[in-house]
Amino acid sequence: MNYMRLRTCPTPLRLFTNQLIHKPAPPLGISFARQGTKTMAAPNSTVAAPPSEGYKPRYIDIGINLADPIFRGRYHGKPRHPDDLKDVVKRAQDVGCTKLIVTGSSFKSSRDALKLAAEFPGTVFSTAGIHPCSSSIFSPSHHKHHDESQSESEEAQHTPACDPDPTQPIPDGKGVDHARSAKIIDDLRTLITKSPSSGLVAFGEFGLDYDRLHYCSKEVQLHSFAAQLSLAASLKPQLPLFLHSRAAHADFVRLLKDAFGPRLERLERGGVVHSFTGTIEEMRELMDLGLYIGVNGCSFKTAENCDVVREIELSRLMLETDGPWCEVRPTHEGWKYLVEAANKTKAAAAPTPSLGSEEGTSSPAPTQGKKQGKKNQKKEPEVPERFKVVKKEKWEQGAMVKGRNEPCTIERIAIIVAGIKGVSVEDVCEAAWANTVKVFGLKE
Ligand SMILES: [Zn+2]
Repeated sequence: MNYMRLRTCPTPLRLFTNQLIHKPAPPLGISFARQGTKTMAAPNSTVAAPPSEGYKPRYIDIGINLADPIFRGRYHGKPRHPDDLKDVVKRAQDVGCTKLIVTGSSFKSSRDALKLAAEFPGTVFSTAGIHPCSSSIFSPSHHKHHDESQSESEEAQHTPACDPDPTQPIPDGKGVDHARSAKIIDDLRTLITKSPSSGLVAFGEFGLDYDRLHYCSKEVQLHSFAAQLSLAASLKPQLPLFLHSRAAHADFVRLLKDAFGPRLERLERGGVVHSFTGTIEEMRELMDLGLYIGVNGCSFKTAENCDVVREIELSRLMLETDGPWCEVRPTHEGWKYLVEAANKTKAAAAPTPSLGSEEGTSSPAPTQGKKQGKKNQKKEPEVPERFKVVKKEKWEQGAMVKGRNEPCTIERIAIIVAGIKGVSVEDVCEAAWANTVKVFGLKE
């Protein structure tokens, strides 16, 4: 496993620089609606449906890298704060994110994800597969055993960030070590077939990533994807697929069709293409093939990204955070929908003018002093944080760590999707919940 080279990888801190610290705030624009309602809006509707009264949003984070040592307080091999994994899971549950599908992207992370599933039964589920960025294990130049779970350095255990890396790609031409490949696929088959079905719910994460060829050459990625697809197709019963496709759409679709037929008619359980950042045409082709689309903070970076999200049918939508990466940042196009939702919540909470007061003014709250000079006014964050956020050096129990995205932020993904599509958060949450439960065979 070779994702390492984190010197080339943005650290979480570099990725998330805009978290604001403040006291717990009410959810943004989602303090409504009934549990369990299924009011599916027509796809691509532009009229926001009113939320049901009393609705409590429910989420399943389909892509969370909870096996990353960062959730144990370890950063690049160094302990920086206490293991707070349980708090991370608790915060997720506090916002209604009651199920977490932990991504396995190598032998080690797949095994660790399975252990987490056993530790949090009914809450944590896992996937198992070899990510394109981990696929250099198929290459003859890989010097370690492919399943060196114990000896692997912690530096190498961090999951790769979702941003493209500009460093030099590994060139093609070194080929694939076929004897090694047969052993890898054999070991992966054993890992999957011996795992309890209550924990392991999908095959993956696997696919192609041509934005990050410095981790693994295109030639070896293509081999890794094709070999794993053929294993996935041969499993009885099959598992749903958890797929990754970045800047590689044509090859990605071609290999899927090679393995499962031109309409993917031999794909028994379906699959999701997670962290989607492709074009509208690519997304439509994937939906036409029956696949689902997973969105996270990386899916809202630009206006073009948001145009794509607008076209995702609710019946094909899934939500994820991809933590510790892919946080929504103020520089992202999608951020404005969080601001919009926050303003609506603020307006709804503002005191209404009391009878007899001057027209257009509201009565001051009795506890507020009259002289509220500008100096004394604490600047309110434009988008409130639900939990306190601190730097990892100032870690405290119960607070989120600045720069480390975690599943409790999934409500932001739902709010942004709802804003972009002009539907209610309830519509988004309930559609994504129903899709996820169905594909991954989870209990309601
Ligand atoms: Zn991915």
